[in-house]
Amino acid sequence: MSEQANPFESLQEQIDDAAEYMNVGDDVLNRLKHPERVLETNLSVETDDGDVEVFKAFRSEFNGDRGPYKGGIRYHPNVSRDEVKALSGWMVYKCAIVDIPYGGGKGGIIIDPDDYSEDELERITRSFAKELRPFIGVDKDIPAPDVNTGQREMNWIKDTYETLENTTEPGVITGKSPDSGGSAGRVEATGRSTMLTAREAFDYLDRDIEGASVAVQGYGNAGWIAAKLIDELGANVVAVSDSSGAVYKEGGFDPVDVKHHKKETGSVAGYPGADDEFSNEDLLTLDVDLLVPAALENAIDGDLARDVQADVVVEAANGPLTPEADDVLSEADTYVFPDILANAGGVTVSYFEWVQNRQRFHWTEERVNEELERIITDAFDNLVETYEETGAPNMRTAAYVVAIQRVVDAYEESGNWP
Ligand code: NAD
Repeated sequence: MSEQANPFESLQEQIDDAAEYMNVGDDVLNRLKHPERVLETNLSVETDDGDVEVFKAFRSEFNGDRGPYKGGIRYHPNVSRDEVKALSGWMVYKCAIVDIPYGGGKGGIIIDPDDYSEDELERITRSFAKELRPFIGVDKDIPAPDVNTGQREMNWIKDTYETLENTTEPGVITGKSPDSGGSAGRVEATGRSTMLTAREAFDYLDRDIEGASVAVQGYGNAGWIAAKLIDELGANVVAVSDSSGAVYKEGGFDPVDVKHHKKETGSVAGYPGADDEFSNEDLLTLDVDLLVPAALENAIDGDLARDVQADVVVEAANGPLTPEADDVLSEADTYVFPDILANAGGVTVSYFEWVQNRQRFHWTEERVNEELERIITDAFDNLVETYEETGAPNMRTAAYVVAIQRVVDAYEESGNWP
């Protein structure tokens, strides 16, 4: 895995690549390559043994031309200012490609949550929520879960905000548990959009997803649900991995059973039904029909990309390919269906959650899944139409053409406050 690629520079390069196929001025483009503002804060929190520890945290608000800033909060030791900026930019274009009325934001705390108790994590999260309070709001900036955060953290943030504001405003944050105002279908939404993108991609490429061999890197929320739903389409999930390593089974795994094993033991490694175990890199270069990177950014760099044998890559993770890897795979005629579409289910159902919170009305899971399918398939159709019309070299560039144009239109139509 490359430690070199700076995700923020990757984002800027992706925007420049798309601009070659668009009629957009350098001044407007430059605006779209930098966040509007970044909050950097040091959270002082008491640990269980009475000491005070300081945690660095960020919230980047990248662009609000199309609506309130929207994006998750990540807890990870590798969180950095540039990573948060990049992730917030990808959110802008993700919301634009699925045409939901949001801009982009992202937050993170530099922390390994495994090193802290639940009480400590609650204090850390509430401390961050207090710092975020002036920035967030149902029409301003709406956080959500990301790596190592989930319903629990979202519920704490909602409660802190509502307590300090003396109100009830569940739409200030999404990804909450159903009893705290969360939406049906939210937990599965990211993996569902990955499955829908894979299904549409195979259909577009005139290939059969039934019987296709699939490798999934990362077996967290995005990866395992994608594996389960792609398996339900009749594909064979032959390899899966997490940070502990990869397992392989020629006839295909039962993804639910692997998930049970991971829940019991903490990892996919050692799964008793596997034929073989190997490293994560080996998983990424397996000769499979479909590769789904669903871990972290920069999983595939230029060198590794030269060994990738999959015919189709559908990105569940954000930014799993470096720009060099993109070029290598593009030249090799490997179809890469980009993150901003393939994992947009999470933010799309977050949008449904926000709509339901504002209406104070719950949708059924069936309705959520139907609306999600409509949005992802419409976005997919727009993407391939643009790919064919513009002659863009790959699906990612075409996706940015669609998304950037929508942001530019919103900006140019409403003008700029001096
Ligand atoms: P998660 O924490 O639930 O899971 C991450 C998984 O990746 C874990 O299984 C972990 O063991 C594995 N992993 C970490 N490093 C690895 C490595 N080097 N090799 C293989 N596996 C490794 O996180 P998640 O929510 O599933 O997020 C995964 C990716 O999907 C991230 O890029 C995230 O930004 C993106 N994403 C998630 C959502 C969502 O709703 N959860 C939405 C959009 C995008």
